[in-house]
Amino acid sequence: MRAIGIDLGGTSAKIGALEDGKILERAAVQTRQDSDYGGILRDLAAAAGTLAEKNGAERVGIGSPGLIDRAGRRVCYSNNIRWNDAPLGLDLERELGLPVRMANDAKCAALGEAVCGVGRGYSRVLMLTLGTGVGGGFVENGKLAAGSLYADAAEIFGHITVEYGGRQCTCGRRGCLEAYCSATALMRRGREVFGREVSAKEIFALAGSGNAAAAELTEEFAEYLAAGAVSLANALRPQAIVFGGGVSGSAGDFLPIIDRHLKEEVYGYAFAPVKAVAAQLGNDAGMIGAALLQ
Ligand SMILES: [Zn+2]
Repeated sequence: MRAIGIDLGGTSAKIGALEDGKILERAAVQTRQDSDYGGILRDLAAAAGTLAEKNGAERVGIGSPGLIDRAGRRVCYSNNIRWNDAPLGLDLERELGLPVRMANDAKCAALGEAVCGVGRGYSRVLMLTLGTGVGGGFVENGKLAAGSLYADAAEIFGHITVEYGGRQCTCGRRGCLEAYCSATALMRRGREVFGREVSAKEIFALAGSGNAAAAELTEEFAEYLAAGAVSLANALRPQAIVFGGGVSGSAGDFLPIIDRHLKEEVYGYAFAPVKAVAAQLGNDAGMIGAALLQ
């Protein structure tokens, strides 16, 4: 079945017409309109409507930052696009006359990777997206377990404790995975160590070229990420953990460390092995996953 996938971001929305995860045609819409809900809705409806008609799409999926209601109809809260209780799914459905479902954008990326990306062939896939924060999703048999505890758990993947009493997290607690392993957290550590702005990518590159301080930072990042990954693997028993987001391009630098910890520390690993893998779909994962929402 053909579907429209929309990946809604703070500055633009990516829209695609897809069939079985294959992108047939793309469009983009600016969303930086001072959070003007009506204006964004109008532009999304126009672009998605055109694509749907041209490509014979029968439904629409939207990945959005923030908290989405369990029915997949409303953005309950997003500090990214600064919406509160925006009934985007309902409104777009009325505008387009097609069924519309929504989910959190990190969950959509997880669904995309699990079904059409590096997670193909595994029935239980967990994805961690390392960006401004740490988000993620858990996919079982090709579906986000909507409405179940799994779906809700995804929102707190970044807020499991990896260092009791450790660094302050934006959520109010201390020692969360997000406070150590988001791209933002790694850059903050880089600033502390190098006394200047360094991107996560640059830190990994420096480590690769033999810089001892950068190598130490990479090791620290990977150890905390491994601690989080092992805890999540123990709780949810995925067969693969996909690492995505801005730092996934450098995954080769930290995946071997994660894999070693998974092998040594996951409870009953021999009976339920789990592999650390790098995301494959890049920036398209969210749009591809959104088109798979039902
Ligand atoms: Zn936290």
